[in-house]
Amino acid sequence: MLLPALADPTEAEAIRFGDRVVLTYRDLAGAASALAGRLGTGSVAVWASPTVQTCVAVVGALVAGVPVVPINPKVGERELEHILADSKPELVLAAAGVELPGGLAELPRVDVDPDARGTGELPPEADGESPAFIVYTSGTTGPPKGVVLPRRAIASNLDALAAAWQWTAEDVVVHGLPLFHVHGLIVGVLGPLRRGGAVHHLGQFRPEAAAAELAGPATMMFGVPTMYHRLAAEAEANPEVAKGVAAARLLVSGSAALPATCHDRIARATGQRIVERYGMSETLMNTSVRFDGERRPGTVGLPVDGVEVRLVDEAGAVITASDDETIGEIEVRGPNLFLEYLNRPDATAEALHEGWFRTGDMATRAADGYIRIVGRRATDIIKSGGFKIGAGEIENALLEHPGVAEVAVAGRPDEDLGERIVAWVVPAQQRPQAQELIDHVARLLTPHKRPRLVHFVDSLPRNELGKVKKRDLPQ
Ligand code: ATP
Ligand code: MG
Repeated sequence: MLLPALADPTEAEAIRFGDRVVLTYRDLAGAASALAGRLGTGSVAVWASPTVQTCVAVVGALVAGVPVVPINPKVGERELEHILADSKPELVLAAAGVELPGGLAELPRVDVDPDARGTGELPPEADGESPAFIVYTSGTTGPPKGVVLPRRAIASNLDALAAAWQWTAEDVVVHGLPLFHVHGLIVGVLGPLRRGGAVHHLGQFRPEAAAAELAGPATMMFGVPTMYHRLAAEAEANPEVAKGVAAARLLVSGSAALPATCHDRIARATGQRIVERYGMSETLMNTSVRFDGERRPGTVGLPVDGVEVRLVDEAGAVITASDDETIGEIEVRGPNLFLEYLNRPDATAEALHEGWFRTGDMATRAADGYIRIVGRRATDIIKSGGFKIGAGEIENALLEHPGVAEVAVAGRPDEDLGERIVAWVVPAQQRPQAQELIDHVARLLTPHKRPRLVHFVDSLPRNELGKVKKRDLPQ
């Protein structure tokens, strides 16, 4: 069973939004069973705003055994058209009164009522191999692809995370993540529900609100690096926030690389050492630093239970070196894997071979197995002057300079070098000289890793999860 706590529901708290809406497991089973009775057998689009209605819609659809297509409420026209034509949902689920855009408004609609109370009786559980979600990837490297996730991937991965993080029914997770991606929705909402614990969603992330939750009932926080940047700044300025965060059992970061500088700032201000995990829509979570493992900044730890991880070179040969130096592409195998890219047999065949999934992410492995992500194959591996250089390493070095607030590094064509290293820097209050930054990297790393060009910009193009969209960097 995917959500065993719904089978014999109690009055324990399941979901809280802001400081108002509280659903106990009995309420949730009632609302979900009422909704499930109104669904057919085809997939349903869910208008995935950060609300309790989204959680009830998703749980109701899972109870009914129909696949969910979560829709980003900020989705643009073109992308929405693509998602609807690709996934062909039979219905749309949304909170009452919400105006839906484009093709969604033309679909039959079911309003989600968190106060509805069905019998609480659940239909027979769907098969583990049947699709639970069609999640669209962030589109960081190309047009979004529909990832078909089976129920067993979710169940097995949430249990592997529970083992890695010593996560139990006693835990209350606080977060303010969006609910249309695996991070906020599957790990952040279904994770607590599978444990029989609670999730407190902030509606929208605010450092003070997260800290207040952690000072009170919440034990764990999930966030993306941009949230931890804001939390670090707030904890440094406000002792109340620092105290709240200090009371947490565990802070977890993912969806993008957490700079070591951010890890250190949080540690200095609050005593908490953030655990980083690495995952993606197609695989859910692959690796994590374990709760009782060494909290080494800049690494994503070890494969979680049941998941195999290997590094391969450009020829596809498995890399055996564990030297924290040799870069290879991460491949993953295990019960956490998706079924296919919807309507994309070409992309599916390219990504899956002999049960292994090619992630497109590049990493090194230390002697003790800890994985360090250096970037994406498509955008972050810079081939310059005969060297293969990971953009992440240069970004981290630049972030150590006090004049740098945010940074993105990428390769650009160069006649002599093949590619030259270019940095886009959002300066801190004291704007540094470009040459100073170039020298800083040459000194800290090695001279061939220094940027040849530094652009100062006001902000970086980021998506809702704070990932830098490198395709959108100015030339
Ligand atoms: P698309 O596949 O459409 O280009 P995307 O890969 O950004 O978009 P997601 O599936 O949401 O879409 O994101 C997964 C990616 O996020 C991973 O492949 C990896 O590059 C990045 N990522 C996740 N966690 C981490 C982490 N801890 N450190 C570095 N990168 C991470
Ligand atoms: Mg991807």
